[in-house]
Amino acid sequence: MNFTLSGALNAELEDRLVRYAAIDTMSDESSATTPSTASQFELQRLLKAELEGMGASAVTLTETGFLFATIPATVATKTPVVALLAHVDTVAGIGGVQVKPRVHRAYQGEPIVFPDDALLVLMPELSPYLAQKIGDDIITASGGTLLGADDKAGVDIIMTLAHQLLTHPEIRHGEIRVCFTPDEEIGTGIRHIDLDLLKADFAYTLDGGDVGEIVYETFSADKATVTVTGVSSHPGHAKGVLVNALYLAATITDTLPHNARTPETTEGREGFLHLYKMEGTAAECTMHFILRDFEREGLEEHGRLLQSVCETVQLTAPRSRIECVITPQYRNMRYWLENDMRPVTLAVDAMRELGIEPISPPVRGGTDGSQLTEMGVPTPNFFTGMQNIHSPLEWISVQDMQKSMLVLVRLMELWASA
Ligand SMILES: [Zn+2]
Repeated sequence: MNFTLSGALNAELEDRLVRYAAIDTMSDESSATTPSTASQFELQRLLKAELEGMGASAVTLTETGFLFATIPATVATKTPVVALLAHVDTVAGIGGVQVKPRVHRAYQGEPIVFPDDALLVLMPELSPYLAQKIGDDIITASGGTLLGADDKAGVDIIMTLAHQLLTHPEIRHGEIRVCFTPDEEIGTGIRHIDLDLLKADFAYTLDGGDVGEIVYETFSADKATVTVTGVSSHPGHAKGVLVNALYLAATITDTLPHNARTPETTEGREGFLHLYKMEGTAAECTMHFILRDFEREGLEEHGRLLQSVCETVQLTAPRSRIECVITPQYRNMRYWLENDMRPVTLAVDAMRELGIEPISPPVRGGTDGSQLTEMGVPTPNFFTGMQNIHSPLEWISVQDMQKSMLVLVRLMELWASA
């Protein structure tokens, strides 16, 4: 490392997480504004002031709730501009207001209890990852709420990194862009990002879990809407006339596989079709599906299966009309990254140099990075250490956050000579 690692680094990481977690930033799916909640601005304004205070340049908070800043290059050569992103919002539903973070310093493996909920307990016996963290400083919430390390740990790591790089100009790196985004948890934030403000060639989202995680594979996703139009009639005079759309919809669901290709029967690299909503009357009924797979061929195959089931049921009821419309949602980021794997290979190199074994599990969902990658900025997801997210049992090790930050420092050095 180019600078000596000190206890002060852990203290800074701990202090920032405790302060940021206490600020309510829940996003709200039902809101029509961007960002969805004004409270996200409160944290963004604090971060803006802190970035300005530490000497970052081009610090900009947009009306849509995106905060950008630049850590200027310390090398004269032209290098790729790398952006580091984290989301400021926390998930709604479990309670993200009045978070009271608690630090369990030099954790010794005892059960962790929560003052605001006597029924909750966190212990190494139930969480093998926690068992590996004996001696670490563990941060949890107090029982009534989640902690919000998802993704304030990411915010924290980027802020601490910015502070370290700005006070250690002897560390050689190219231009780094910092970006804190709103509304990740409701899936709408990233589409409002202004790429002309991001101005980055590559990026990382700091939104991953276990130490060593560098994720560059996500699902590819389509949605499918099946509209079944029957023939309605007064039920008293319906003989030979009525065609019940609800029965046809039931036949479609019955014909689809139930013991395979559903979310509840698949894992790992297996894809699925998922009927998540159905609404209608005897006259007309609409079925909403999502289709997921890691491979193009697999995704197309799920679509073909649904189409062919619809066609078969249509043949049994010629007076009905069954329409199946498939629309693309997002694509596996690997399709873009495999053209230039540097964001992954450099991260892997940086981890190995620091004695950390990289892991790249495929994510059974999408990330902000999947959308950003598709928009032209390849963006794998990088570990922070966060655990049990979206739960009152959420926790994180300060030492894991420090590992994330130190790997990032090395990664930024590697980009400067890439
Ligand atoms: Zn997150």
